Amino acid sequence: MAEETGKSEKGNEKVCKRCKQTYSAASNNSNSCRFHPSFFVCRRHDDQKRYYELGPGDPPYAAKFYDCCGAEDPEASGCTTSFHVSYDDD
Ligand SMILES: [Zn+2]
Ligand SMILES: [Zn+2]
Repeated sequence: MAEETGKSEKGNEKVCKRCKQTYSAASNNSNSCRFHPSFFVCRRHDDQKRYYELGPGDPPYAAKFYDCCGAEDPEASGCTTSFHVSYDDD
C-alpha cells in the first residue's frame, strides 16, 4: 500500500502545544520548554508588587505584563522551564 507522503513523520518528532516548537521525545528534558505559566494581562498596576515600570506618559493602569513574572514584552522568553508537552500527551 502507498504511504502518505505529505507528512514527514520521522520517528518521534512532536510539536509542543505550549511553546509550539518541534522537539524530539529523546531530547525532551525539564529545561526544554520555556513558557509563562500565567497569561499576558492588561490591568491596573498593583503597587504592592512593582512588576511594571510605567513610562512618564502612561496612566497608572497602563500595565501590561505576564501575570507570573511581570515581563512586559509579550515576546519575552518564558520565566519557567519544564518538559515539552505534546498534543498526544495529557
Ligand atoms: Zn512569566
Ligand atoms: Zn514546549
